Amino acid sequence: MKVGVLALQGASRLHLDVLSALGCTGVAVKRPEHLTDVDRLIIPGGESTTISKLLDLSGIREPLAERLEAGMPVLGTCAGMILLASDVTNGRPDQHSFGAIDIGVRRNGYGRQVESFEADLEIALVPGGAFHAVFIRAPRVERIGPAVEVLATFDGDVMACRQANVVATSFHPELTDDLRFHRWWIEEGFPS
Ligand code: GLN
Repeated sequence: MKVGVLALQGASRLHLDVLSALGCTGVAVKRPEHLTDVDRLIIPGGESTTISKLLDLSGIREPLAERLEAGMPVLGTCAGMILLASDVTNGRPDQHSFGAIDIGVRRNGYGRQVESFEADLEIALVPGGAFHAVFIRAPRVERIGPAVEVLATFDGDVMACRQANVVATSFHPELTDDLRFHRWWIEEGFPS
């Protein structure tokens, strides 16, 4: 299986390292043609405003929207969650998301005082105990649509969710050496 990691800006390298540790072929997606032969995609953390701009400049936005529409499995982490969401609050007017998962997120929703934090999450579908999650200027999920399944919460907030083939996390699962979240996503993260 070939797994693309959108590599326009942000934390693509560590996702590629995790994929190779799991025995998958990771492909850094920097140009539209890199998308054609990947089976699924990770949209990493970074800066959603910048990634949004680079999606347009690189010509990747339209072919990626088509692949998402066709049901390609995708994992969006942090900025990636913002880019997959249907509504974004506190975004920049010129940033655009794919609307691939029916959630409303507030960009930088944990404010300046707690820009970054860590939490041990119980993720029912990822067995083996709590998953140590790192949040960096994370989006806050403020609304979830009826078709969205909650995968993990912390302090009442949704930190990971899924709708059909789209999985989104407000944390960075690639930042620790715990491979379980990616392994789950590779092996059983999408229903169809
Ligand atoms: N705050 C960033 C954004 O708006 C996301 C931060 C991250 O991906 N670590 O895109």
